[in-house]
Order: sequence, then structure tokens, then C-alpha cells
Amino acid sequence: MKALVYEGPRKVSVKEVPDAKIERPTDAVVRIRSTNICGSDLHMYEGRTDMESGRVLGHENLGEVVEVGSAVDKLKVGDWVAVPFNVSCGHCENCEHGLTAFCLKANPSGTAGAAYGFADMGPYNGGQAEYLRVPWADFNCLRLPEDAEEKQLDYVMLADIFPTGYHVTELAGLMPGESVVIFGGGPVGQMAALSATIKSASKVMVVDWHPDRLALAEKIGAIPIDYSKVDPVERVKELTNGKGADRGCECVGYQAHDPQGREHPNLTMNNLVKAVKFTGGIGVVGVFIPNDPGGKDTLARQGEIVFDWGMLWFKGQRVATGQCNVKAYNRQLRELIHLDKVKPSWIVSHTLPLDRAPDGYLNFDKRDSGWTKVVLQPAA
Ligand SMILES: [Zn+2]
Ligand SMILES: [Zn+2]
Repeated sequence: MKALVYEGPRKVSVKEVPDAKIERPTDAVVRIRSTNICGSDLHMYEGRTDMESGRVLGHENLGEVVEVGSAVDKLKVGDWVAVPFNVSCGHCENCEHGLTAFCLKANPSGTAGAAYGFADMGPYNGGQAEYLRVPWADFNCLRLPEDAEEKQLDYVMLADIFPTGYHVTELAGLMPGESVVIFGGGPVGQMAALSATIKSASKVMVVDWHPDRLALAEKIGAIPIDYSKVDPVERVKELTNGKGADRGCECVGYQAHDPQGREHPNLTMNNLVKAVKFTGGIGVVGVFIPNDPGGKDTLARQGEIVFDWGMLWFKGQRVATGQCNVKAYNRQLRELIHLDKVKPSWIVSHTLPLDRAPDGYLNFDKRDSGWTKVVLQPAA
């Protein structure tokens, strides 16, 4: 089968690789119909993780089941499914508690949590390919209704970014009527803004400086804050009667840049402490990693940041972090799509055949204007 293979920093190509196949009786094989390029793929693409060359990328996957193992009970050949980026077993202590991003069994390295085509998240190949092997398929696949094909650009967001955007509002503790500032208007930040709207936030503020991203946020009723023109902390205070936002969301991660292009891994975290009110909550889903081979100093290479702990403590804020347990939300968010209450595909700028995946990476990585979200369609 054909797949997008990582071959080193900024080098990916579409190649023939061994077919995805049933390896254990609980597996299924899914023919991929839509698979996204994610911002976190870019950390790997840029060589800013310890991703091994030769791996197939892609953790935001949707497709049709074409084969099931002998122990698969519920799933049938022909089902359309959205596949959470988390690979999880369903029966370890963490899975039983709904913490599927921290499955204790799926990652043979002993780290909690596994994912498809992801650095340090187990041996699983990604779905930027014609086919994907899904372990513990009954547990991991979310079946889609009869409008699956027609709305696949919406449903594919259930694999990661829509639940992740919802999760960050949960981590921040967002309640109806509260205000929230979201740092980062990339795909996850947009989904956080959409989720905050679903939760009836009184004011949703999105900080970025790419005009295309700010325009997308504005389309769903968020207040865009252009970091290249105003101090985002001052602007949030102006918009909240001087008190700061009730809640803050980190949707940027360790490769945070200032508008001049200089990297500061602590930039958004420290801005959030300033922009969120006393006793407010901060959720962090932007990726931070324990080892950054491309970090500019020793601290950054060890995944550490200079963080304004004193002010965080003084303000009595709470911080919650980590990858999203997709299964905690994907079923409910699926219903909102099915009933036409939300349309997360509003952020999709490009649908490309698999052969053009390297162009997708190149343009998305350069944050070229208009390349807000790329969906690959290997079966097209
Ligand atoms: Zn993703
Ligand atoms: Zn588990």
C-alpha cells in the first residue's frame, strides 16, 4: 500500500510500504477515506522530536472497515468509523477510568499512552496511508451514522482536534457565561473556540497573528486579538473590565513564537498567567515534550521552561494539562455534527490526494496564508 513516510527533518515522501494487516484477533483494518495533517505532525516533520525515520505519520483518521479480527464483536466490515488518535486497550486501570490518553497497556515502552504515527507513543503506524491497522478495534473505533461519507470532513475532526479543543475548555474549567482567552488560532485553538461557543461562554477571545486564522475565529463569533498589533494581555484586560479572562487555553505548545518569529517555549504559558484572572483556570493541550532535540538552549532541550510560578501561585490559579482522552467526548460531539448543530470542517482549506501530502506538509509548515487545515484523501 502507499503511505506517507517520515524520512528525517522536513523530508517526507509517499512510498510503497507493507500492507496494514490483522496482527491480533482484536484488530481491524480500516481503508482510510480522510486523514488530517495535524500541527503536532509538524513537530515531527521539523525534526523537533525523537521520531524514527521510516515511520508512517497520521493520527487523525476516518475510514471504512475492510477487515476484522476473529475477536472483534461489534464492528462490521463496511462500517464507517472515526478513529481516536489514542490507541488504548479498554481494560487497564486508566482506560477503565476514561483516561484513554494514558492507557497503561498500549505503549510497549512502558510510558502511559499510545498513538498512531507519533514520536514516543508506541510502534503504531499512522493513517496517512491507504489502510490503517486499528488495535482493540471494538473499543477504539467510533461508528458513524449514514451521513458519514457526505460529512467526512466534519467527522474526521473527531479523531483529535475537536475533542482536544473541547478537552482544553474542560481542563480550564470553563462554565457557561464565563469568558475565555485562547492562545493559538491553529486548528486546535479554533476547535477550542467552537467548543467554548457550544458551552455558551460569554466572551471567546482568540490570540494569533495570522490573518487567515483570526478571520476563521471571527466567523464563529470569537473576538480576534492580533498579537502583531496589540499586547494580548492588555487587550484581554480591556475586554474583561480589567480583571482578566475567567479561563485560559494553551493551544500553541513548546514551539511558541513571537510575532517576529523568535521562539520562546514559555511565551504562551506566561502570557496566560497574566491574562487570566485571580483564581482562574488554565488548560494546556499545546504539545510540550520531555526532550526537544532542536531546543535552543540546555533548558529547552530538556523540555523545561522559565515559568512565572510566583505569579501563578499569587493569583491562586489552577493549571491542568495533557493529551485528550478522545473517547470521553467523541460520541457526544458526533451527535452535534450529525444533527447539524456544528460544522467543524469550516477550518478545512485543502483536501489533497495522498500523493500530494508532501506539498501539504510544506505549505502547512510554512504557515502559508490560506493553509489552515489540510485533509488527505488516499481513496480519492
Ligand atoms: Zn492531531
Ligand atoms: Zn488501557
